[in-house]
Amino acid sequence: MSAEILGLDLRALSGELAARRLSSREATEAALSRIEATDGRVGAFLRVTAEGARADAAAADERAARGARRGPLDGIPLAVKDLFLTEGVETTAGSRILEGYRPPYDATAVARLRAAGAVLLGKLNLDEFAMGSSNENSAFKPCRNPWDLGRTPGGSSGGSAAAVAARQAWGTLGTDTGGSIREPASFCGVVGVKPTYGRVSRYGVVAFASSLDQVGPLARTVGDAALLLQAIAGHDERDMTSSTLPVGDYLARLEEGAAGLRIGVPREWFGGGLEPGVEARVREALARYQALGARLVEISLPHSRYAIAAYYLIAPAEASSNLARYDGVRYGLRAPARGLREMYGETRARGFGPEPKRRIMLGTYALSAGYYDAYYLRAQKVRTLIRRDFDRAFEACDVVAGPVAPTVAFRLGEKLSDPLQMYLADVFTISANLAALPGLSVPCGLHPVERVPVGLQLVGRPFDEATLLRAARALEREQGPLPAAPEA
Ligand code: GLN
Repeated sequence: MSAEILGLDLRALSGELAARRLSSREATEAALSRIEATDGRVGAFLRVTAEGARADAAAADERAARGARRGPLDGIPLAVKDLFLTEGVETTAGSRILEGYRPPYDATAVARLRAAGAVLLGKLNLDEFAMGSSNENSAFKPCRNPWDLGRTPGGSSGGSAAAVAARQAWGTLGTDTGGSIREPASFCGVVGVKPTYGRVSRYGVVAFASSLDQVGPLARTVGDAALLLQAIAGHDERDMTSSTLPVGDYLARLEEGAAGLRIGVPREWFGGGLEPGVEARVREALARYQALGARLVEISLPHSRYAIAAYYLIAPAEASSNLARYDGVRYGLRAPARGLREMYGETRARGFGPEPKRRIMLGTYALSAGYYDAYYLRAQKVRTLIRRDFDRAFEACDVVAGPVAPTVAFRLGEKLSDPLQMYLADVFTISANLAALPGLSVPCGLHPVERVPVGLQLVGRPFDEATLLRAARALEREQGPLPAAPEA
């Protein structure tokens, strides 16, 4: 019974709940048992909120019995990255410095899922303050890839991707500042969407780099991700960067296929560093699009070669400012000390791990008097050029397609001693953040030799998530689902 429930995707489960052939309690118990059975190996969860989940499920079942189901997410067990504030439930951002912090309110995205009736299973593992590409910067424990436990799930939303791949939850929320939804989605063989900057409220999400951070869903299928995005998208008066543009209908045209779409293939994304097995799968996906009636258009994004350099000035600069608030006074950890200055210093020295410290130093340096113009301001100018590359490209195409990451999931420990190698995992994803554009990762098969998933990245016009999802769905439908991850 449990295995059958776990085999359903989100929308199928929703159909069963609507028809009252299954209850939310059954689904929730199935998920909790699955977490219990697998998470010792996978490590996707930092905290399981079983009691709360059971109460949520009971309430959902009671609504269903009254004929008052709130919609397709009512009663569906989900989980969120531990970067989202959850009322009364410890929220750490993967950092010792926030250990023990219980927020007094829910992030807007979480509140919207709750309002839709979702069941919250718990908080998911991540790189500390979302800084990383492998989940290995979590201060608490590593997370492992359900396809191969010797490999990372990617990061920083590693737990969010692994939980979906391990069938512990029907969908999750992550955040993406430079690739943190798309790269783990690619590594774990799930769908991950980074919406347009401003499409989803970041209110109540621990800030990393505020001009880049965006919230988005991860799920087993494109349709499931579309449904989750529908629930969380839209203006929020509490986040002044959230857009007032109306939210599209992400499901209405999902099945319309790829015929007639112009798919831009950036020359620069198929150069050097791209691993041949990944390239083979991505090219195969492009050929499928052609067979489906889409047209491939060669495009150029000449400034994308500067994306990593610009990102590693802008993101640390903003992080150094955002992380200044963790001073031992207001949240979480406070180190014992004799005076105030010593308390600040000790708290930050003990509370932050090596990666946030590295970013704070880089960012503080880049923002210091005399260097601001040379570094931060210049990086912002490069950012404009990157955005213009895309604007030009979108005159000739409707979506841009290419690899998500240059490789498949790498092994735990493989890149830990070399931060630059780790940073390169995001070489293809960062441009969409710098240009504020929507992007997603959709599975496009298994690596021919290594037999772990490869993701195809699609990037769209601002606020055109609907076209992006429709294009992703066309590929998904054509190639069929991946098998279940074997090692969870
Ligand atoms: N890996 C990138 C970094 O470490 C991106 C992280 C993210 O998107 N949150 O900054």
